[in-house]
Amino acid sequence: MNYKQQAFAKAAPGIIKNLEKRGMEGYYFEDCASMVKAVLSMMPEGSVLSWGGSASLTESGMMDAIQKGNYTLIDRATAQTDQERREIYGKTVMSDFYFCSTNALTLDGELVNIDGNGNRVACLIHGPQHVMLLVGMNKVVKDLDSAVKRVRTQACPANAIRLNMNTPCAVTGTCADCLSPECFCNQIVVTRRSRHAGRIKVFLVGQELGF
Ligand code: SF4
Repeated sequence: MNYKQQAFAKAAPGIIKNLEKRGMEGYYFEDCASMVKAVLSMMPEGSVLSWGGSASLTESGMMDAIQKGNYTLIDRATAQTDQERREIYGKTVMSDFYFCSTNALTLDGELVNIDGNGNRVACLIHGPQHVMLLVGMNKVVKDLDSAVKRVRTQACPANAIRLNMNTPCAVTGTCADCLSPECFCNQIVVTRRSRHAGRIKVFLVGQELGF
């Protein structure tokens, strides 16, 4: 382990303890391969799986793994019309396992997420039976103020550029606190506790994932 990874490993137990006091489960893995293996072991064959937009899901190898597994996948990218998108979203809400990441995670165990449409944060909040968050330790910040700052200055501009969105941050690389039609930051959601114990599971990985 390099020094950065050693620091991640030392910080993880405290974060996991703080997630637990908020009704969420936390797990720590040194690398993506061991994380993917552990997640797969938690999902019975035949489970219904869906996901929100997440670079971490692809970068970690989890997307490849679930596509090769014996699961029923609900993929909104297959929708051809608005009506199909609505129907797929309805099935997503009923899924057994919903995958995404978080835009930031505080040391005290709070999740902070922005969303343009709101479908991802809606599923995080309520609906799918289990929510599986794949989180690189690069997303960990000190407190809520740092979390929102991280999202607006790092996560959102990079995502806007990746998705070719027409927002000020995609043009300049910095947040202009916009109200533009394609704004990503329509919803800024803090998850401070889960009422349903263990529904939200946070899989921390001791490396950089996503933005
Ligand atoms: S408020 Fe607008 S400019 Fe700022 S990060 Fe969000 S989408 Fe980008």
